[in-house]
Amino acid sequence: MILCAICNREARGFGFCLSLRFDLYPHHHFCSMRCLDRGEAIAKEANGMIDKTAREIQALKDARRPFAEAITELGLMPVFHDRKPEDIAQIIEAVITGYVDSMLRQAGVPERTGTFDYPIPF
Ligand SMILES: [Zn+2]
Repeated sequence: MILCAICNREARGFGFCLSLRFDLYPHHHFCSMRCLDRGEAIAKEANGMIDKTAREIQALKDARRPFAEAITELGLMPVFHDRKPEDIAQIIEAVITGYVDSMLRQAGVPERTGTFDYPIPF
C-alpha cells in the first residue's frame, strides 16, 4: 500500500514530482486533492522534498509515553523493549491512520437510526 505523503492515509492516485523530473526529485503520492495541493506547495518550497513537520515529529514522540504505558499494562513491553524509535513511530502512525480512516468512512453514514438504538435504562 502506498501512503499519502501528507497524512499517511492510503494514497488514491494523486501524485506530484517537481518539474516532472522523476530522475531528480522524488515522486510523492497523495490521498486527495486537498493533500496534493498542500504537498505540492511544500515540495515547491523545499526543492521537491516533503518531510514530516516539526509538530508531527513531536506528536509521534509525545505518543510514545501513552503507548509505553498501554503495552506495559498489557504485559507486552518485553516484545517492544529493543525496538527502534522508528519502529514505534510506524506502529503509532498505523494506528492513527486506521482510526482516522474509519472515522472518515463512518462520517458519511448516520450514527443513529433516529430512534433509540439502546434500551431505555428505566
Ligand atoms: Zn492525505
